[in-house]
Amino acid sequence: MTSKLFTVGPVEMYSETLRLGSVQVPYFRTPEFSEIVLHCESMMHELVDAPEGSRTLLLTASGTGAMEAAVINLLGPSDRALVIAGGTFGDRFCEICREHEIPFDCIRLDPGASLHPGEIVELKLDSYKALLVNAHETSTGVLYDIFQLGQACRNAGTLFVVDAISALFCDPISMSQMGIDLLLASSQKALALPPGLSLVVLSPRALDAVRTRKVKSYYFGFQRYLSDGSRGQTPFTPAVGIILQLRDRLKAIQAIGTPALVHRTADLARHFRNSIENLPFRVFAETPSNALTALSPTNGSSAYELFSQLAARFKVIVTPNGGQLRHRVFRVGHMGNLATTDMDTVANALREISQ
Ligand SMILES: *Cc1c(COP(=O)(O)O)cnc(C)c1O
Repeated sequence: MTSKLFTVGPVEMYSETLRLGSVQVPYFRTPEFSEIVLHCESMMHELVDAPEGSRTLLLTASGTGAMEAAVINLLGPSDRALVIAGGTFGDRFCEICREHEIPFDCIRLDPGASLHPGEIVELKLDSYKALLVNAHETSTGVLYDIFQLGQACRNAGTLFVVDAISALFCDPISMSQMGIDLLLASSQKALALPPGLSLVVLSPRALDAVRTRKVKSYYFGFQRYLSDGSRGQTPFTPAVGIILQLRDRLKAIQAIGTPALVHRTADLARHFRNSIENLPFRVFAETPSNALTALSPTNGSSAYELFSQLAARFKVIVTPNGGQLRHRVFRVGHMGNLATTDMDTVANALREISQ
C-alpha cells in the first residue's frame, strides 16, 4: 500500500502531470514556448475572471516568494498596508512588511475565528494603500468573505491584494466580481503541480500602481516580467517543466469550468465532514474553506499524535499544525487528485483510531 497525500501542498497529482514530469524539458527562448506562456496567461485570466487588461506573471518561486514580490512591487516605506492576520499566512504578510520597512497595521484574529461582516464595515480602509489578505488562512482552515472585503476596498479606493494560493479552485474566486486587484496562486495547491511556480494576476489598477514604483529587487521587480511577458517570455529561466504541466492542468480545468471544480471540492469537503460527524472532533474554522478541514480533537487526544498514527498505521498523510496549535489541530486536505472514496479512507482511519 502506498501512502496518499491529504496535505495542503504538494497534493496528489494527476497522471498526465506525472507523465509530463518525465519528459525532456525543452529550451525555452523559442516562439513555441512563448505561445505556451501566453496561452497559460489567457486561460488563467478566464479561470479567475480577471478584468479586461489584466496581466499574469509567472514567478519561479514558492508562494511566499510571490507574496513578498507582490508586497514590494505595490508598497514602499511611504505607504501603509492593512493585514488580516488569522494565522501563519496572515502573519507572513506582516513579517514581509516589517522586513521591507513598509508601515502596516494588523487585524489579529483568534485562531479559527473569522472576520464578521460588522467588523469588515468598521475597517478604516481609506488610510491604507492596500489591504493584504489570505482568502483562505490555510493554517486554520478559515475562509474570509472576499466579496465583502473587496467592496470595502472599492469604497475606500484601497488596493485589494488577495493571496488565493489555497482558495483558488476550491472556493469561489472571481477577480471581477470580488474587486481583486492582485491575486496570488501557486503550483502545489489545487493546481496539483510540483512546487516551484507561482502566478501573480494584476488588474489594471494594480498595473498602474506597479508601473509608478521603483522596486529595490533585481529578481522580483515586476516591470521586467511585464515587458518580457508581453511577448510570452520571462526575464530569467522559468520553471519550464512546471509551465508545461501548468498548461495541461489549466486546459483540464477549463474543460470542467472553475465553478464545477469548486463544486467538486465542496462535495468532497461536505462528504468528509458528514462522515466524521459522530467522531470526537470539531471543525476548527468558524467559516471553513472547501480546500481542507482543520480538525480539533474533543477527547483530549494530541492532534500531532493522530497525524503520526494516521501515517504509520494507515499511510494516510494529513497535515500537522505547528506552534501553539501543534497538539490542538491537524488538517485534512481536499485538494488535488482525490475522490470521495479517499475521504472515506481518512474517515474510517479516524474512526478506528478514536475507538
Ligand atoms: C501554501 C501557501 C502559501 C505559500 O507557501 P510556500 O510554502 O511558500 O509555497 C502562501 N499562502 C497561503 C495561504 C498558502 O496556503
